[in-house]
Amino acid sequence: MNKENREKLKQSKRIVIKVGTSTIMYPNGSINLQQMEKLSFVLSDLKNQGKEIILVSSGAIGVGLSRMNLTQRPVTIPEQQAIASIGQTELMSLYSKFFYHYGHHIGQVLLTKDVTDYPVSRRNTVNTFEQLLIKHVVPIVNENDTVSVEELDHLTRFGDNDTLSAIVLELTEADLLIMLSDIDGFYDKNPMKHNDAELFETINEITDDILELAQDSSTKFGTGGMITKLTAAQIVLKANKQMVLANGTDLTILFRILDGMNEGTLFSK
Ligand code: ADP
Repeated sequence: MNKENREKLKQSKRIVIKVGTSTIMYPNGSINLQQMEKLSFVLSDLKNQGKEIILVSSGAIGVGLSRMNLTQRPVTIPEQQAIASIGQTELMSLYSKFFYHYGHHIGQVLLTKDVTDYPVSRRNTVNTFEQLLIKHVVPIVNENDTVSVEELDHLTRFGDNDTLSAIVLELTEADLLIMLSDIDGFYDKNPMKHNDAELFETINEITDDILELAQDSSTKFGTGGMITKLTAAQIVLKANKQMVLANGTDLTILFRILDGMNEGTLFSK
């Protein structure tokens, strides 16, 4: 079953790739230019192979802090939004430069959660993605931090890019979501705390028992941890698509995943 599903990965044509802040930032808070350039190189090469690529990139706040020479995230929401605004521009400027170097163009797509609630918003979003892909442009997606809010009757915030990337897979009808993190995949317990944790090669269904194994999440950068990755997997499996959770330290792993090799954890029915 694992072998068959891994083989299927080779046929993936439209792929959403999500990178966490830890993939493109050094632990000291500076931008990891090497990683950003490598990511742009690998994704550009996948485009040259004929794949359609959509990138969901975190890092706006991290890059904004670095740009403003701040070592700590500000406390108030408006200040955080301002930092994200500064960082997002810087992030896109770097991606634009690196992708251009490898012969490709990018387009920025900032989303709020309500795009899925209102048919017109949803259609506009789908149309934008379609046009970018038709024009061979790489859409780079992030949450629209400026307008996202979390109120009782008005919830427009995804809160984490894991869920956002699964929604992007749905909206674009992509075949595959590859989620890159600082961990080799999904384990039976938190591997950062337990030496004997064992990696799952494949998961076919997100059961309550599986969700239980993700409870012990650490969230260094205030992101979702493992639980939101499983929520994303749930959305992907429901759409009958595939997801791979893998380690983004060596970004050439993307070539191996798409070659059907046993990397990371594959979520597939
Ligand atoms: P990212 O910032 O890349 O999105 P997170 O830090 O949010 O990643 O989540 C990954 C972390 O989740 C891992 O570093 C690990 O410490 C933690 N974790 C908790 N439970 C598990 C588990 N069962 N399998 C793998 N990682 C787990």
